[in-house]
Amino acid sequence: MKIGGLRKLSLIDYPGKTCAVIFTQGCNFRCQYCHNPELVYPERFSEPIPFERMREFLKGKRGLLDGIVFSGGEPTMQEDLIEKILEVRSLGYAVKLDTNGSNPKILSKVLPYFDYVAMDVKAPMGNDYANVCGVPIDDYAIRLSIILIKASGIQHEFRTTFARNLLENADIVKIKSLIGGSKFNLQDCLGSSNVHL
Ligand code: SF4
Repeated sequence: MKIGGLRKLSLIDYPGKTCAVIFTQGCNFRCQYCHNPELVYPERFSEPIPFERMREFLKGKRGLLDGIVFSGGEPTMQEDLIEKILEVRSLGYAVKLDTNGSNPKILSKVLPYFDYVAMDVKAPMGNDYANVCGVPIDDYAIRLSIILIKASGIQHEFRTTFARNLLENADIVKIKSLIGGSKFNLQDCLGSSNVHL
């Protein structure tokens, strides 16, 4: 696993739990508002943090933290994700995934190992989606990921970053329709979850 960063304590990244966040390197999207370019653009990657160091940190925080979040970048691009989830679970932590939902094939394999999943829904389906995420996108893949998560029985939420130069209020209505009655979190570009439309 290529780890580009670690947030040692967060009270906001895992609903209801204290957690640490592991940031993986690499993402297949190029969102215009991305706050983590050092996890997205290979030329900006730093030397990955060895998992051994992460393991020691996690062992030392047992009983002090409730959960661990795999975020990114896009964690489902990591070939050994399941192996690392199992290791984190064996230390007694609840495990959450943050994903852009672009790869339902891998998502379907890793979902059963998570306790909580948060998927970004970048825009309504169609050209808007590619415009926001900066790459051509397979609508079907995004729809399938939403379906898989909703049917998984795992605690989950969907999130949209509201950039006023990219989305309109009507787009949020369409996104909500896409995800049905699932928990929805609207964030502004600065990371606040309290956006007033
Ligand atoms: S999916 Fe997330 S990490 Fe990837 S480019 Fe978009 S905002 Fe950045």
